[in-house]
Amino acid sequence: MSECIFCKIVEGQIPSKKVLETDNILVFHDIQPAAKVHVLVIPKKHIASLNEVQEADASIMAEVVLAAKQAAEQLGIADSGYRVINNIGSDGGQVVHHIHFHVLGGEKLGQLIGNS
Ligand code: 5GP
Ligand code: ZN
Repeated sequence: MSECIFCKIVEGQIPSKKVLETDNILVFHDIQPAAKVHVLVIPKKHIASLNEVQEADASIMAEVVLAAKQAAEQLGIADSGYRVINNIGSDGGQVVHHIHFHVLGGEKLGQLIGNS
């Protein structure tokens, strides 16, 4: 059995507030929202981070990006704007090692590029 928290969410062993789901991707609300709207977009396939994405994952990763757009539309933040973030590894601040894209919006976001 997988010890990965997001694989457990995919498998339904850990509950989540789902926004949208297909055969390949899942979008769900972050448990500790950092903005008024904060969802996570993941491929159902376990890929640890962007570092582990292979050529063969190209179409799945395209679905992830399109799901981020679709979730933003569904959550009503597409026109007001939003931010998509992917943290990678230790310096990137990645805590959960199943690739995920944060989609943040619903309010004016602070500066969040680089170190400050
Ligand atoms: P990271 O720092 O790895 O980029 O982001 C991990 C995110 O996953 C954090 O924003 C954290 O709040 C969220 N998270 C961690 N555990 C859970 C969980 O069990 N359920 C949900 N919905 N989000 C989680
Ligand atoms: Zn996983």
